[in-house]
Order: sequence, then C-alpha cells, then structure tokens
Amino acid sequence: MSSLVLKRQTITVAPHLTVTFTLNYLLINLLLLLIYVLTAKTGLTFDAVSGFATLVWAPSGISLAALLILGLKYWPGIFWGAFIANYLTGAPPWVAFGIATGNSLEALLGAYFLKKFGFNLTFDKVKDALLFIFIAVVFSTLTSATVGTTSLLFGRVINLSVYFSTWSTWWIGDGLGDLVVTPFILAWVFNPKAKIASVQITELALAFLSLILISLIEFSGVFQIHNQSLPIAYTIIPALIWIALRFGIRETSTAILLVAIITIWGTVNGFGIFARPRLSESLLYLQGFVGVNAFTFLILSALEKERRELEKRKDEFVSIVSHELKTPITAIKGYLSMLKPSLSTSKKELSRAERIDNEVDRLTKLINDLLDFNRIISGKINLDYEPVSMNKLISGVVSDMKLLSKSHRFVFQSKTEVTTLADEYRISQVLINLLSNAVKYSANGTKIVIKLSRSNHLIIVSVRDLGIGIAPKYHKDIFIQYFQTHEQKKDGNSGLGLGLYISSQIIKAHNGQIWVKSKPGKGSTFYFSIPLKKPNMS
Ligand code: ADP
Repeated sequence: MSSLVLKRQTITVAPHLTVTFTLNYLLINLLLLLIYVLTAKTGLTFDAVSGFATLVWAPSGISLAALLILGLKYWPGIFWGAFIANYLTGAPPWVAFGIATGNSLEALLGAYFLKKFGFNLTFDKVKDALLFIFIAVVFSTLTSATVGTTSLLFGRVINLSVYFSTWSTWWIGDGLGDLVVTPFILAWVFNPKAKIASVQITELALAFLSLILISLIEFSGVFQIHNQSLPIAYTIIPALIWIALRFGIRETSTAILLVAIITIWGTVNGFGIFARPRLSESLLYLQGFVGVNAFTFLILSALEKERRELEKRKDEFVSIVSHELKTPITAIKGYLSMLKPSLSTSKKELSRAERIDNEVDRLTKLINDLLDFNRIISGKINLDYEPVSMNKLISGVVSDMKLLSKSHRFVFQSKTEVTTLADEYRISQVLINLLSNAVKYSANGTKIVIKLSRSNHLIIVSVRDLGIGIAPKYHKDIFIQYFQTHEQKKDGNSGLGLGLYISSQIIKAHNGQIWVKSKPGKGSTFYFSIPLKKPNMS
C-alpha cells in the first residue's frame, strides 16, 4: 500500500490535490503508526500476561477513535504500528503479522459497525453510549483477543494452558482502552469549544480539584492506604457524579481518563487498595473499578445530556406555541374593537362583546404568564436596569388601570419622589399583576390604594384592596407556582396561579422581597420592596 502511494507522488503531472492527499494520507498513517508504537510499548511494560496481553491497552481506544474520525481507510497506520510494536516486543514476524491483523480488524469492525448503526460521535444520547459499549468495547475487542492469542499459540509463543488467561487479559485490556480513551478523544475533537458558563468555571475547577485530590490521597502512597477491605476507592464516585451531572461528555470523559491514569500509576507503584503482590492481579482489580466507573458515567453523562436536550425542546415548544398564539389573539382583539362601534345599542349585544373582550384579555394574560414562567425556569429572565422614576411608573400603571377597570376606584399615595435603577417593564408587570388581583378579588365600587414609600436603602410599594382577603395559612403558598386557594380553584374563571410566582421571581431578581398581610373578609395588602439604587451610584 505504501509503495503504491509513493509511486503516485512521483507522477509530476498528477493534480496538486492528489499529491497533497497522498502525502497527507501517508503522513497521517505514519503519525498513527508512531502513536500506536509508543502507547503500545508503554502498555506492554505493565506486566504483560504471556509477554503480549496487557491490562492497560490505550492503543485500541486510539485506533478506534482514529478510524471513526478520519475514516476506515487509515487502517494501515494501525496495522503497521501494531506489527512493529509486537515485533519489537519479541514476537516472530508472522506472529506479529497475525496480532497486527487482529488489532486493525478490531478497530475496523468497531468503527464500521458503529457507523452502520448510526452511532453519534458526540455521544448525544444514551443509545450512543450503549452502542459504543456493546459494539466497540464488548464485541469488536473479541477479534483482536482471539486472533492475537491464537497467533501466539500457533507461533508457539504461548501454550494451550495459558490460552484463556492471555485471551481474557487481552480482551479486557482492549475493551478498557476503548472505554476510557475513545470517548475522551471524540469529545475533545468534536466539542473543543463547548461553552461553559463563566459562573460554572469555578465549579468545574472545584470538581476536578476534588477528583484529583481524592484520587491522589488514595493512590499516591502519601497516606499509606493499603487496607484492601476498605472500599475507600469508591469515594471518587461522588466527584464523578458531580462532573457527569453538571458538565458534558467532554469533562466526564476527561475525568474518567484522569482517574484511570492516577489509579494505574498508583497501583503500578504498589499504592492504593488494589495493590497486590502480582501486578497483573492488582491491575485486574483496578480495571474492574475503572471499567465500571467508565461504563456508569458515560451512560450517566449521555442521560443527562438527553434530559437537558428534552427540557430545551420543551421550553422551545412552549415559547413557539405561545408566540404563535399571540398573533391571532391580537387580530381578534383588533377586529373586535373595530366591530364594537357598529354593534346595535342593545345591551345584550354589547355585554356579549364585552365578554369576548374580557376573555381575550384573559387568554393574553395566560399566554404571557406561560412565556414568563418558561423564561424563569430556564433562567432567561434578564433584567434591563435603567433609571426609573417610581412615581411616574406607578402613576402610569394606575392611569392605565383606571381606563381598563372602571369598576374600582384607584388611589395613589406618595410623600416621596424616588428614582432608582430597576427594570421598568418588569416592575410595571408586578404592579399590574397586584392591581389586577386586587380588582379580581374585591367587590365592584371598592377602593384600591397604592402607596409608595422609601427608607435609606429601600423602596416599598403596597397595594391594598378591601376584598375577600386570604387566610393566613395561604400567605406563603400564594407565591409558589400554580398555587391557587381552594375557593379559587373551584372558580373556573381564574388564571394559572402563576402571576404571584412570576412577580416574586422578578422582585427576587431585583434583590427585593414580596409579602402579603391579609385577613379573610378584611381585604389584602401586598407589599414589595426593592433596594434603592441611585442611578449616579451605579
Ligand atoms: P392567578 O393568576 O391564578 O390569579 P396568582 O398567582 O396571581 O394567580 O394568585 C394566586 C392566588 O392568590 C389566587 O388564586 C388567589 O387565590 C390569591 N390571591 C392573589 N391576590 C389576591 C387578592 N388581592 N385577594 C385575595 N386573594 C388573592
């Protein structure tokens, strides 16, 4: 194959691209060969069973990743890398040839069947993690173990009595190489720039620090932890869970590899709870531990990614549907206002039109609540701080309410003029919600009083109605999402129970507080306070 490649290079008339491709192809294969030889020789230094089968076999993971990323045609680099590594380790040439055939076949079959079954290289779904584990880790590795061990047997390098121990060591070593190394390479190649929110960077550093510290405490020998009956190695698991649940496959696969490197290094040096008199035995125990971790956390990470994806889609769905609903509602409202003047003056017709108008308003509120709720739970409520005159804001909202709800008398009282930094739109939204509730839950003709006051650091706004009031047992619950009092639930005319929840979240986002004082039958007073932030102090 390589002589064919070199021949093509000498054809001067060959298109430039072909020569580059050929050269690239040759160079990449050469690089693969070098990496293979280097990692294989390192692996074989760890107490190889029968001299060739080892429990630390990173080359299988590297080969599989290479063929998945670059394409199946890069198998020669793997083949010759395996040939040279085994030949240098003392295998007769045709035995090395047999082993190399098994090793490259393993990577080829793994990559081929993974692609055939639609494996996603970014481990997006649990299905991908499972396909990877069963096709690559469990099955493709059978090829290399079987062809390799049989080559050793026929070459009389081993005899039948050690066939099975050599075969099983080979199989486990290759499987673990795939499990620990391939996801790491794939994740970094396909997700090199996956964003981590700046607030999460400290968390990520802390998670990795704890992982490394725990691993080092147990496997560096500093603390002389040798007691084999202590299941202390499992204290690494919480840190792995932390990383798998809070970050992506890139961070999880890095953590798995890191744990593998530290624990192998420690065990090889005789430290930690897996250390036994014979290194191959120690490594077998250790690989059980590394293997179970890698298996569990690859799946957990994929599961978490899938869950986040579903959540994102649900949010998008709610958001799209709500936005789409808004358009026809605006149209209905518009046409209704055009129709109203042409309706006959019959009271019945006018009251029906009024009813339609009110229902459209209610629908609009429901949709807006849904949209806001969705924004809150996905953390997308961003406040737009600007200097706001609270007096102007309240007067504006109250004037609008006076026009919309002629059934009640609104009174705005304030002995102070305050301007603060706040999100004008969102604070107005809170006030509108409190005023609408006051209207909804108090009798026609009654008074609704809005007060504005301030202290050194706080602005306090209150809305008092003389309505039905709220029993003390509900005072905290009414700010919880979907909460409605029993009486309210029975009334089919109510909202979603989201208005006060959204208001409380908006006030919270302003670092403020919201609360209520009320007695059944005596009316309610809702208060909210936000810190006074003078615009020139910001
Ligand atoms: P909704 O949009 O369903 O009205 P809210 O979150 O705004 O939901 O209110 C939650 C519950 O709090 C209401 O169902 C009602 O029982 C009670 N509530 C809110 N404001 C008042 C008020 N001014 N007077 C009496 N009850 C109120």
